[in-house]
Amino acid sequence: MHNSAQQIQTSRRKVARVVKGMPTSDGAGVRLTRVIAQPALPMLDPFLLLDAFRSDQPGDYIAGFPPHPHRGFETVTYLLAGRMRHRDSTGREGVIESGGVQWMTAGRGIVHSEMPEQEHGLLEGFQLWVNLPADNKMDAPGYQEYPAAQIPVEQRDSGVSVHVIAGETSQGTRGPVAQPLTEPLYLDVELPANTAFSETLPRDHNAFIYVIDGEVDMHDMDDSEQLLGRDSLAVLSHGDEVAVATRDRAARVLLVAGKPLNEPVARGGPFVMNTKAQIREAYEDYEAGRF
Ligand code: MN
Repeated sequence: MHNSAQQIQTSRRKVARVVKGMPTSDGAGVRLTRVIAQPALPMLDPFLLLDAFRSDQPGDYIAGFPPHPHRGFETVTYLLAGRMRHRDSTGREGVIESGGVQWMTAGRGIVHSEMPEQEHGLLEGFQLWVNLPADNKMDAPGYQEYPAAQIPVEQRDSGVSVHVIAGETSQGTRGPVAQPLTEPLYLDVELPANTAFSETLPRDHNAFIYVIDGEVDMHDMDDSEQLLGRDSLAVLSHGDEVAVATRDRAARVLLVAGKPLNEPVARGGPFVMNTKAQIREAYEDYEAGRF
């Protein structure tokens, strides 16, 4: 009895750590909050970086991200509000709009620009970097890009709405993005007041909850309730299931999970490879125009 009770308990994911983002700027001076890829959380394998941006002040975002390269991983842009125009070195161009996602596999190399397509109003969203295995870092670049209309919203009996961007929920709703290399799950979950949401996850995948708005209760490592506020990220312990609940106000959270690669990581600015020599090679290739 005691053993089986313990097994059930250990399979529930808890808050291992809470991380607050660090205000910073990137690109040509875009103000953003770096949540992953900062001293408090350098990475959460396979997730290399998470930036959150939210501003209705054009001076915070209008300069955008002029042309820059990437190699060795994927950039995932999910917009909650506003518009971003994307152009790359192959001539591809498009606009990511509110509620849309662009999952870009940089692979062996891409040069792109990401520029706000608005001169005023709210720009809000996230950019997540997802690592690629050593064997796939030099694969051809590719895109999985979908507007809000193509992102299914699962309505639960509790009143909770789940936007399924990548992966598949326990109730069988499949998001448009799939990446078999890291098996990511990327959910945007809206919880009315006094509701609960739970989801099963592969036991050994790394996962986090990021509170976009409101506040949610989760279990901490001592199994007491911990209230997570807006803009905080909870790194989850391993286990089979994650659960969050709201009190007397609504909340919105991201739930993101993926398979850890457990490979060496060498970073150099916009390149993420396995060795320092590969980073040098990336800079040489870029400077020689070989992207
Ligand atoms: Mn970029």
